[in-house]
Amino acid sequence: MKLARRTTQIAASPTLALSAKAKELKSQGIDVIDFGVGEPDFDTPEHIKQSGIKAIQSGFTKYTAAAGIPELKKVIVEKLKKNNNLEYTQAQVLIGCGGKHVLYDIMWALIDAGDEVILPAPYWVTYPEQVKMSDGVNVIIQTKEENDFKMTPEEFRAAITPKTKALILNSPSNPTGSLYTPEELKAIADICVEKGIYVISDECYEDLVYDGKQVSIASFGPEIKELTVVCYTFSKSYSMTGWRLGYCAGPTDIIKAMSEFQSHTTSNPTSFVQKAGIEALVSPQSAPAMKAMYDEFDKRRIRTVELLNQVPGVTCRTPSGAFYAFPNITGLLGKTYKGRKVENDSDLSAFLLEEAHIAVVPGSSFGFDGFLRFSYATSMENIEKGISRMIEVLK
Ligand code: PLP
Repeated sequence: MKLARRTTQIAASPTLALSAKAKELKSQGIDVIDFGVGEPDFDTPEHIKQSGIKAIQSGFTKYTAAAGIPELKKVIVEKLKKNNNLEYTQAQVLIGCGGKHVLYDIMWALIDAGDEVILPAPYWVTYPEQVKMSDGVNVIIQTKEENDFKMTPEEFRAAITPKTKALILNSPSNPTGSLYTPEELKAIADICVEKGIYVISDECYEDLVYDGKQVSIASFGPEIKELTVVCYTFSKSYSMTGWRLGYCAGPTDIIKAMSEFQSHTTSNPTSFVQKAGIEALVSPQSAPAMKAMYDEFDKRRIRTVELLNQVPGVTCRTPSGAFYAFPNITGLLGKTYKGRKVENDSDLSAFLLEEAHIAVVPGSSFGFDGFLRFSYATSMENIEKGISRMIEVLK
């Protein structure tokens, strides 16, 4: 078979691969605790489900406008103004089949072959692959743990070349939970404006911030707003991962190009899912459902970090947002177990899956060796049990 060359340049998602391995062990009757998942373990709130069902029953099951229905765009424009301090028109909004899809549309519209895209590591696994899919070149900045895994303005400036087209920012971050402060964002925004660099600002975890406040880089004035596309999803805030609904906002020309692209690829995001999206954004019932999920994540965050810091050889910073902890496990490397040396984080992840039956993603999957990502989108009971198992096998 002669597949296109580009197929050889893309790696499968390591987080989905780990989840598949964990599921396989579970199907053999093994009690695997999964810290690998990237989705809330809560049900979609009932009122949102009902509005999707109602939309199907009322026959709202046909094609819609490719970039989304005006009613949903309208409430998105209102939400962006109220929650994100961003003013956009409906023509500057595009709705797609999840944040991942929208991000790909953005890359397609912005990146030419050979354009460099600056990406601070640790990064979400999908970014470098989407840059490659768009024939762009990834320029990775290795951030520092002591800087809370955030890129400094100096590091950013040093990575810029005449070929730099865009920067990908993700705050709060998957996998570290780090949150850029307004001052840090302003300094980065100033450099982007000075150099004419576009920003793809993935703000998909905007509602899951426990320490500090999430601010959009696009909110620092018209010049940076003109260079930025902000991206959001219903997946995390409303536990709607399987519904596939996300959106972005940005300069009219970029959104227009993306809409045309979408009209020839997926067409519209699923019609009745868009109706459920309206319910999620406007219904007063959304607030208590979101608050309950948020409070539970916050409790788990504190407990996960506390427990991980009790594991000999492990240290863990407290993440500000999202639902991931990103502990440093370098103190465990170089040890031998059953004749096998644990040389790196991937070895440790494999060891923990086989011996402790816990699934965790190695930091190297996110471009950052010597760390593991623990998702605390699992019950408190599982968190306690899983990390105790880790302590036990490491003895
Ligand atoms: N951005 C980040 C950083 C993510 O972690 C995810 C999902 O894991 C997404 C975007 C996309 O989510 P979805 O495609 O479900 O909207």
